[in-house]
Amino acid sequence: MSEFSLPHAPLQRLDLPWLRQAGIEAAILRLDLVDPLISGNKWFKLRHHLLAARQAGSPGLISLGGNHSNHLHALAAAGKRFGFATVGLLRGHPQDTPTVDDLRAFGMQLHWLGYGGYRARHEAGFWAPWQARYPGWHCIPEGGGGLAGAQGCALIVEQCKAQLATLGWTDYDAWWLAAGTGTTLAGLVLAEAGEHPVHGALAVPPDHGVAEQVAALVGATGYVLHDASRGGFARLDEVLLAFVDEAERHAAIPLEALYTGKALLALRDQVEAGRFVPGTRLVFLHTGGLQGRRGYL
Ligand SMILES: *Cc1c(COP(=O)(O)O)cnc(C)c1O
Repeated sequence: MSEFSLPHAPLQRLDLPWLRQAGIEAAILRLDLVDPLISGNKWFKLRHHLLAARQAGSPGLISLGGNHSNHLHALAAAGKRFGFATVGLLRGHPQDTPTVDDLRAFGMQLHWLGYGGYRARHEAGFWAPWQARYPGWHCIPEGGGGLAGAQGCALIVEQCKAQLATLGWTDYDAWWLAAGTGTTLAGLVLAEAGEHPVHGALAVPPDHGVAEQVAALVGATGYVLHDASRGGFARLDEVLLAFVDEAERHAAIPLEALYTGKALLALRDQVEAGRFVPGTRLVFLHTGGLQGRRGYL
């Protein structure tokens, strides 16, 4: 179905002083550039859901997230673009953020679940009242997770491989990317099937069950998880912000701190600790999310 054909993500050189000093060659796959509104890895995670919803003739799409959610932002934009109504179930109490303003502008209908109501999202009966209220609508798990999300992300690997020659590369040694639910990482692991290891830098603390979720999707091999959370999801600190600022200037690439910034900083720590031998070729996945910067800048 060409309606949801994949946008193109450019593969570019990533030149940073600490990579050069360690003799590491790096490239960055720019998912932040795939679309002005349906940004980053969220486009790939949504693709199979959009296909399924269209095939089922669903009038609309429902999902959940916080008030800076990149996922809900992409979903609302996709709904508007492709003619689906959208409903967002939000964590906490009504609050206006730049993201929430956009959700409304894209036509998404919002329901605020409070904190307790949001915590119930993993319970068996959670979706039943919403399915009764919005019959036939397509329900998407938090963050676009699950196997459908991972399968869409498997297509990211093809895009990288198709562009290696533009860098003068014939191959690469490993992936490095930010992980929230680990769905994007799982997609890369599926597509690589053991050919290249996938390093996931966790933006959430290690006790949040991501390892278990990834293992349930793809098993225990083909990837390594690193704790990049720096004390909590969405927690910011001066060292991180200064690092992101400097990396943006050196590489001339925009980043946001919560995912791509923390992932790149965790990579620097590993590179400086000598984890990768000189001559290693890494592909860093820019997962997008730049709309979320407005929430903390
Ligand atoms: C959502 C998001 C992630 C996390 O993706 P998962 O598939 O949940 O691991 C990473 N980076 C950015 C910028 C995101 O918006």
